[in-house]
Amino acid sequence: MTPLRRIAVLSVHTSPLEQPGTGDAGGMNVYIAQTATRMANRGVAVEVFTRATSSDLPPVAELAPGVTVRHVVAGPFEGLAKDELPGQLCAFTAGVLRAEARQEPGHYDVVHSHYWLSGQVGWLARERWGVPLVHTAHTLAKVKNAALAEGDTPEPRMRVIGEEQVVAEADRLVANTAVESRELVDLYDADPSKVLAVPPGVDLERFTPGSQAEARQRLGLPADAVVLAFVGRIQPLKAPDVLLRAAARMVADAPGLRERLVVLVVGGPSGSGLEQPRALQELAGELGLLDVVRFMPPQRGAALAQVYRAADVVAVPSHNESFGLVALEAQACGTPVVAAAVGGLPIAVVDQVTGLLVPDHDAGTWSRVLGEVALRPALREELASNAVGHARRFSWDRTTEALLDGYVEARRDFLSAFDRREVAV
Ligand code: UDP
Repeated sequence: MTPLRRIAVLSVHTSPLEQPGTGDAGGMNVYIAQTATRMANRGVAVEVFTRATSSDLPPVAELAPGVTVRHVVAGPFEGLAKDELPGQLCAFTAGVLRAEARQEPGHYDVVHSHYWLSGQVGWLARERWGVPLVHTAHTLAKVKNAALAEGDTPEPRMRVIGEEQVVAEADRLVANTAVESRELVDLYDADPSKVLAVPPGVDLERFTPGSQAEARQRLGLPADAVVLAFVGRIQPLKAPDVLLRAAARMVADAPGLRERLVVLVVGGPSGSGLEQPRALQELAGELGLLDVVRFMPPQRGAALAQVYRAADVVAVPSHNESFGLVALEAQACGTPVVAAAVGGLPIAVVDQVTGLLVPDHDAGTWSRVLGEVALRPALREELASNAVGHARRFSWDRTTEALLDGYVEARRDFLSAFDRREVAV
């Protein structure tokens, strides 16, 4: 079997070139950018197909040497919400197939789709190109619907059916954790031999421990403040409201704290609507926390690392999280995490060792647990020093190696099944 030369990556609804932490961009964008760059460094070229969301975008852009992003025109550039994308999958698939048809035969060795919308396209590309389909769901509708936050809309049946189809068609399914592997098998009837648990990574060069005092100075925060931070898109599923309600309790229970407490909320609206950030700002007002909560737009790289370093605790109160990259990034910066015990978070955070896990979303419980870490320097120090070591166990290099191994296996099985089909014909 020839070595892998080129992978087609499908990322229909969001581009790895976008700023994560706002709109439709989050951990998946980071995942694709980080692993694609590392694959290219190992001599495997990557071409990412994503929908063109502006007429200014060039048809092909370079993300890094060896990694190109192809902007496929499918539907109007702007103003198309994520839930309208299923209607554009045919146009998107046509764009992907046309791009491949202009290349030499056998241009791609594997197609890797991210999220169910891309899986639908990948399924056809697989058939047309005669290459294996590797699929990563990132989130699963059945799991999401079982953990809906108040005010959240359930994922439609169309998505559930679409995911089931992709699970049945894919040659390999990449799960973030053993929990997600089980969900694929138990809820989606995936063939266990096709499921591969590959933990995601953290950028260990960007997210490193550093001086809290310096980070606070850069952010204009007092050196003696008690700083709690939330980082991520503002959406009911991520439950930033739980942090605000808990902060209100903390202030009520310890009146002296009010002058010292700062709650950083870093990130933009999820999708295109501004209702959620507005509702969160209103909640801060209702809770009398306008002088405590500081809303910050999405931050990049070094600036984001400063936010993590400035915080005494990073809170991840999500109702569901397939992994939670923010939890790893904070720990890599030496900041303990208080997280909801859901999805992949109990793997990202080792309870009582690198942070604390909270069994519910009750403001009283959260206020107590956040206080335990933020107001007890000895415990905070201990968790912080363990957190760095724990985060170091995850690296994008390891994720990339595991994915490449998965591609090789998927290709071997695919080709041998193909040979058997030939013989039978
Ligand atoms: N992020 C960022 N800037 C921000 C907020 C978030 O770059 O202001 C990034 C963050 O570093 C992380 C990703 O967005 O890598 C969010 O991933 P996570 O798995 O925590 O959540 P998701 O968005 O995938 O649900």
